[in-house]
Amino acid sequence: MKIREFWFVVGSQFLYGPEVLETVEARAKEMAEEMSRKLPYPLVFKTIGVTCEGITRIIKEANYSDECCGIVTWCHTFSPSKMWINGFASLQKPYCHLATQYNKEIPNDEIDMDFMNLNQAAHGDREHGFIAARLRMPRKVIAGYWQSEKVISRLSDWMKAAVGVAVSKQMKVMRFGDNMREVAVTEGDKVEVQLKLGWQVNTWAQGDLVKEMNAVTEAEVEEKMAEYLAKYDVATDNIDAIRYQAKEEVAIKKMMDREGCLAFSNTFQDLYGMEQLPGLASQNLMAQGYGYGGEGDWKVAAMTAIMKAMGEGGNGASAFMEDYTYHLVEGQEYSLGAHMLEVCPSLAADKPRIETHFLGIGMNEKDPARLVFEGKAGKAIVASLIDMGGRLRLIVQDIEAVKPIMPMPNLPVARVMWRAMPDLTTGVECWITAGGAHHTVLSYDVTAEQMRDWARMMDIEFVYINKDSTPEKIEEELLIKDLVWKLK
Ligand code: MN
Repeated sequence: MKIREFWFVVGSQFLYGPEVLETVEARAKEMAEEMSRKLPYPLVFKTIGVTCEGITRIIKEANYSDECCGIVTWCHTFSPSKMWINGFASLQKPYCHLATQYNKEIPNDEIDMDFMNLNQAAHGDREHGFIAARLRMPRKVIAGYWQSEKVISRLSDWMKAAVGVAVSKQMKVMRFGDNMREVAVTEGDKVEVQLKLGWQVNTWAQGDLVKEMNAVTEAEVEEKMAEYLAKYDVATDNIDAIRYQAKEEVAIKKMMDREGCLAFSNTFQDLYGMEQLPGLASQNLMAQGYGYGGEGDWKVAAMTAIMKAMGEGGNGASAFMEDYTYHLVEGQEYSLGAHMLEVCPSLAADKPRIETHFLGIGMNEKDPARLVFEGKAGKAIVASLIDMGGRLRLIVQDIEAVKPIMPMPNLPVARVMWRAMPDLTTGVECWITAGGAHHTVLSYDVTAEQMRDWARMMDIEFVYINKDSTPEKIEEELLIKDLVWKLK
């Protein structure tokens, strides 16, 4: 496991004398330690910011530290902000301004001017906020008492989004085969994504994968079969098909690990030398945190891996998803999402079944094995990254997933049913107006606010469709953003 941490830098100044600075430092340490007990990643106290040189030095260290995923600042006292300019101007890590205060209450009897000088975050954080605004810094501002559940939970969410940035900057995607012929939305500028998001997107020959598969040993297949049997129910007699998927999974994983790739894409149009499109293989790889995109969709593959890493325990319930068909009965309006095989079992409400079925699309010589299950009910989001030509747009929509309202016994794939916000048809109108893809990442544990934070940190356009959205408002927003992003 990679070490990931966040640095706590607390602003003050010399004006109040050495005793105040000692108190500020002791409290900053105490707060960092106390908050770290509840946060998903350690918040490490680094220094009290009192000079331009000191602040610049710690920011330079943060930029070069592989462990540091972001900095959190707060001003215990007043901290004149011109001394933060040089450091902030060179900051390359995600930044959160925690506008908090050591004491929760104003102590009625105790309060005097000494207390006021020591505890003037309300004053200091405004000066601090000005300089970040003046420098046009992308930042998250979280205000509230540092021990409150809400502040801890919001800081936790921001930390996970910042880890999504760290994962993005190291993202490598392995492509098997090109984009599906003629499809537009899955295309994109690989130079632009490397510049903006850090992704290295490169291609490997299908033949190399087949060669790797042929080198997989019986023992490796047996070990993978034992894992499948422990995790899933087998609902097919076609054990050979499952063994074939095991071989595919072992080979794909070996190639990805060798190259340091965390995501892969393939296409049913290029399976040369393979008997089955990887179904179960891709699904079980996603369950381990790898990203995947079908039809050559490397953008959704990388986004799946990033959003998984942003989720609970570093591998959340996030999955490659595709919008298929609607139920348009009034009062019961739902989308049905699935894929031809590859839906991640992290979405499953119950233990998935391994089934084998004929797959007409693509060059499958044999019936591919795949996991079949129903998605869980609950609040979730769908996210789609599209290339607008000259910039990237991330579209996120709130959805409410439900237990599928019918069993669909002849549907041979995993399925998720949901209602888009604000309602199905308005939600679809907004999504289509914004240009969102049919491929998305569906996530139960990454929130829209986290994706907004991530987009801000990555400096890309963000469009959010939610309970208050209307096509008219979205249209206006897109028009304005189009102008803004052309100027940027
Ligand atoms: Mn697809």
